Amino acid sequence: MNESNSTDLLLDISILYRSTQKYYDKMLQSLSLTYAQLPILILIYEHEGISLQQIAYEGGYDKGTITKQVQKLQETGYIRVQSSKRDKRAKELYTTQKARSIMNKIYGIRASWWQHISASIPEEDMQKFSTFYKTMVVSAREFAQKDQEDIVFFDHQKLNVEIDPGKMSTIVWTGGCNFRCPFCDRSQFIFLKEDSRVITGAKILQYLKKRQNVLDQLVITGGEPLMHAQLDPFLREAKKMGYQIRIEINGSYPQHLQDLIKAKLVDQVVMSLKNTPEKYGQSIGVDQTEIQKIQRSVDILLHCDLDVRFTILPIKEFHSQKDLIEMISWLKDAASIELRTYHESMESIQKDLHGYTYQELQSLLPKLQEITPNIKLKGGSL
Ligand code: SF4
Repeated sequence: MNESNSTDLLLDISILYRSTQKYYDKMLQSLSLTYAQLPILILIYEHEGISLQQIAYEGGYDKGTITKQVQKLQETGYIRVQSSKRDKRAKELYTTQKARSIMNKIYGIRASWWQHISASIPEEDMQKFSTFYKTMVVSAREFAQKDQEDIVFFDHQKLNVEIDPGKMSTIVWTGGCNFRCPFCDRSQFIFLKEDSRVITGAKILQYLKKRQNVLDQLVITGGEPLMHAQLDPFLREAKKMGYQIRIEINGSYPQHLQDLIKAKLVDQVVMSLKNTPEKYGQSIGVDQTEIQKIQRSVDILLHCDLDVRFTILPIKEFHSQKDLIEMISWLKDAASIELRTYHESMESIQKDLHGYTYQELQSLLPKLQEITPNIKLKGGSL
């Protein structure tokens, strides 16, 4: 593992959480308490008469979790629940004598764990850390409560004139992909770092509005854009501004594709075909092939009236010449097929793969063109 992955806060928090849980569960076993119940018990002890709702808010719990843990605390005799004198429908929670008699021990367990994990950190740094993490908790709570409906992107190229010659395009990259193609050269959009640059859909729409009379086309690529249901309202806004929309997909979300076509939210679709049906799984790096979905997407695209382009990236480790012939035969009714050349990059998922060279593809081309003339070579990878 490499030490430079200093931004993996999620993993660090998870390690800290699980180690803390192990320690507390061991120390609390003799008291028939668990780590999950402890913060709730402490909250009740420090705020006798607190309500379920207040605990849920203070601890960031959902209602189901809090109800379950409170029930367990009640069953073990550590707390009692009574109706509020002010409002009979409201419940107030109190600790019992049994709980109060063990609180000193619990605080001792807590202090000893804190001392243990902070022993090598100077006091001044610990105070700063405490301020930082409290600020992060506030931000996390606020963010978790926000409406998460807006799509986010992880890169934006404001102007591109090469992706579709003759058109002024702007390109955005979505994050995440359900495939792990070994020859993928975009791992930065699949294994997203916590400090990845995030650009909201709203921000991109502002940009599109400003450039409305300059740009022709919005290109959505990824990752796999069709993983994101929030894409549709974003595209609707871009369409209202008159943009042509090109989307680059892996073909594993046929229903979403169909919906976009039906809603007229897309003008051009580029689908990368990874291999023959039998060998598809090997080329997408995940167990399940989901070949029916790929076949359905190919069918949809072969029978729609959009500008559709299929791309193939021939790699010697995955595609024999026979496989390439079979793939082209699968797409023989397509209006446009591009064979691309592979270039390894820092972001390639698997290193040391061997793509067919331009010359090799050129010499193979006449044979492939016997199947369909709509096939051409193009430099550049996916
Ligand atoms: S090549 Fe495309 S489909 Fe494959 S992992 Fe990369 S982004 Fe996903």
